[in-house]
Amino acid sequence: MLQKLIAIIDEYNAQTPENVRITTTKDYPLSNLCTFKIGGPADLVAYPCDIDALIFLVKTAASLDLPYLILGNGSNILPSDMGYRGVVINTTRLTSVCSIGNKIIAECGASLISVTREALGAQLSGLEFAYGIPGTVGGAVYMNAGAYEGQMSDVVEVVHYFDTKIGEIVTVQCEDCNFGYRISLFSNDPTKIILSAEFVLNPGNYDEIKQKMDDLMQRRIDKQPLDYPSAGSIFKRCPGHFTARLIEEAGLKGLSVGGAQISPKHAGFIINTGGATSADVMSLIEIVKEKIYEEKGLNIECEVREI
Ligand SMILES: Cc1cc2nc3c(=O)[nH]c(=O)nc-3n(C[C@H](O)[C@H](O)[C@H](O)COP(=O)(O)OP(=O)(O)OC[C@H]3O[C@@H](n4cnc5c(N)ncnc54)[C@H](O)[C@@H]3O)c2cc1C
Repeated sequence: MLQKLIAIIDEYNAQTPENVRITTTKDYPLSNLCTFKIGGPADLVAYPCDIDALIFLVKTAASLDLPYLILGNGSNILPSDMGYRGVVINTTRLTSVCSIGNKIIAECGASLISVTREALGAQLSGLEFAYGIPGTVGGAVYMNAGAYEGQMSDVVEVVHYFDTKIGEIVTVQCEDCNFGYRISLFSNDPTKIILSAEFVLNPGNYDEIKQKMDDLMQRRIDKQPLDYPSAGSIFKRCPGHFTARLIEEAGLKGLSVGGAQISPKHAGFIINTGGATSADVMSLIEIVKEKIYEEKGLNIECEVREI
């Protein structure tokens, strides 16, 4: 089926030889496509260069019954050491961002950094919290990313997605996106592919917006182990508790399994200190979950998606 997909992509590209719309790489390590720097090879990685090409790829993979995985910047995933059997569709070339009035419109592969910078340039306030989250618009909407009292559901007006079940583009209003704490209509539903999102913001002052962005970035630099590969906070917040504090109180800060370590700087992060495997990270996760359950009777849940 993989060979068939590659042949169909070649035919698709041949229709516009001056403009290759889908590039591919075979047997490509997922460790190069995620911020954890962990993961075996994907059978095929495909990069659509426009939204139509993304839809074409998804439709074709589905029609061939070939497993596919949509990937943005890979900053919230833990890929398997065995890699991925199927096609990884990477959106990071779909980067268009523009502002119209008090709105920002961004394609799914646009980085949150570029979206927040566009908002700054247009003197629009509301997205400052997202500056420093190293994801794309698609990944951020998918899991309702948030930080410092803000989250995507505060600023999303509409999301445009491709519904593979009906083969159509659908526009959904924020209130119908089922946003919750790190979940949305899109999480765990591979049939809905986020194409783009529109954010509605408030007019603001350039210097004040910039100051807030810089302050929040500095807080990240001060508190987070940004000099090591990771996927950010490994666990979700546990209602009524700071998970990082629970881990610290359990005496697990700094604990290592292989190349994976509970960050000595921030116990909510598992870092890759060099050569960590997915199995190392999973072992640490299990140790933490068991200890917190034993000591506090609390079940903590993973935020990072295992693939
Ligand atoms: C240092 C660091 C700090 C972080 N800080 C924060 C933080 O403060 N707050 C926070 O919420 N998160 C944080 N994260 C986690 C991560 O950056 C966010 O969750 C981000 O939104 C993920 O975006 P992504 O593009 O990397 O998604 P990916 O990791 O590529 O994908 C995540 C999930 O989204 C799905 N997905 C991606 N794009 C699409 C699409 N177009 N359509 C459908 N599904 C899609 C994928 O299939 C996958 O299941 C941090 C991570 C790191 C490494």
